[in-house]
Amino acid sequence: MVRNKMQLDAWVSLIRQVVREEWMPAEEAVEQAGEISDLMHQRMREHGLFRFRLPEEYGGHGCTCEEMALINIELSRCSVAFRTRLANNVGVAANVILNGGTAAQKARWLPPIASGQAIAAVAVTEPDFGSQATAMTTMARRDGEDWILDGHKAFISNGPIADVYVVLARTGEAGSGAKGISAFVVERGDAGFGQGAAYRSMGMHGAPFSHLHFEHCRIPADRLLGGVTGEGFRQTWQAFLFQRVQLSALSIGPAIRLVDEGLRWAMQRRQFDRAIADHQLIQAKLAQCQTEIQAARALVLETARRYDDGEEMVLEASASKYFATEMACKVADRVVQIFGARGYFADFSCAERLYRDVRGHRLAEGTSEIHQLTIAREMYKRASQAQEITQ
Ligand SMILES: Cc1cc2nc3c(=O)[nH]c(=O)nc-3n(C[C@H](O)[C@H](O)[C@H](O)COP(=O)(O)OP(=O)(O)OC[C@H]3O[C@@H](n4cnc5c(N)ncnc54)[C@H](O)[C@@H]3O)c2cc1C
Repeated sequence: MVRNKMQLDAWVSLIRQVVREEWMPAEEAVEQAGEISDLMHQRMREHGLFRFRLPEEYGGHGCTCEEMALINIELSRCSVAFRTRLANNVGVAANVILNGGTAAQKARWLPPIASGQAIAAVAVTEPDFGSQATAMTTMARRDGEDWILDGHKAFISNGPIADVYVVLARTGEAGSGAKGISAFVVERGDAGFGQGAAYRSMGMHGAPFSHLHFEHCRIPADRLLGGVTGEGFRQTWQAFLFQRVQLSALSIGPAIRLVDEGLRWAMQRRQFDRAIADHQLIQAKLAQCQTEIQAARALVLETARRYDDGEEMVLEASASKYFATEMACKVADRVVQIFGARGYFADFSCAERLYRDVRGHRLAEGTSEIHQLTIAREMYKRASQAQEITQ
């Protein structure tokens, strides 16, 4: 749902300007340094880029799922490191606190998240439990007025640099599945809480990911999200559905950039006395890329509208995430091919970098395989519901 097209157009044109004038020229420096500078973070804050999702009462713009998807398609037309800095402030962590927090918790954490003063992260995955997250073993036990957390989380986006972490931990018996999981807010500097060093990664250089360690980490009782135990998965579920749509949108931006650059190169590069764009096998690659980008865009925006309208969209969210993230990798591979050796070596084009950057999208927020399973499960569910109606 787009509430105010003029306002959305103004945000989109601001983002286009930031991407073109500030982020693209800095891509290589961020790649080399492996970090986004404090100055760049400050510029993101000044542009209000952390504000899009959260409601006005917390200092945000309250964008809908469709508006966020349109914004994210624009934000992601460059190195994935930039949008990862914003990711949880406009994505899962912000949404989980918004959906599940008490009034006091929202008043405390959402304004600094909306302004970008605090970087947010969400910690679900563990070294031993990734896809099977409901089997997590990070424990939280009550001790007088406090909670004590023990365990480890892995692969956490912005793990080394965040200030506010939404952490899922088991408050029920071992083996209690999703019903025994609760959500907590842990802050940088809490006793017994530590962040691992940033991993070395295939791509997304400049976006840090790490382990988190909880060793007798003592936090006050008011850090339990919503003040209730056993609700962690329910509180995060809606945020993950929202985020599936957004990661799909964030896969379209890099694909558009790749095709823009690949097309420009194909028109310029001459082999066999003509532009390579005149060779039909190159045209076929470009046409496949363009068609798949448009299909992903249509699927993602339709799914976003379903979310905004409160319609059933579990299947559609998984289909979007599966299709768009696989699409980005296919586009990246074809564009590397169009660039020839210049697509393989980083000195000549963005293709080499984006090829590595988008690969992580097929793993994060549910792997392609897990989303295929979800799609099939939802298909069976809908088929049996339809049968019940006709019987
Ligand atoms: C860039 C990036 C950012 C991330 N950010 C975060 C974050 O901020 N917070 C967070 O909590 N986590 C984060 N993660 C972790 C991510 O959620 C996990 O990587 C993901 O859930 C998969 O878990 P795993 O890596 O342990 O793989 P595993 O679960 O060990 O899976 C390994 C392989 O087996 C397949 N597989 C597993 N089960 C099945 C099955 N039933 N049927 C068929 N195939 C199966 C998987 O699809 C995969 O191919 C991030 C990961 C990446 C790559």
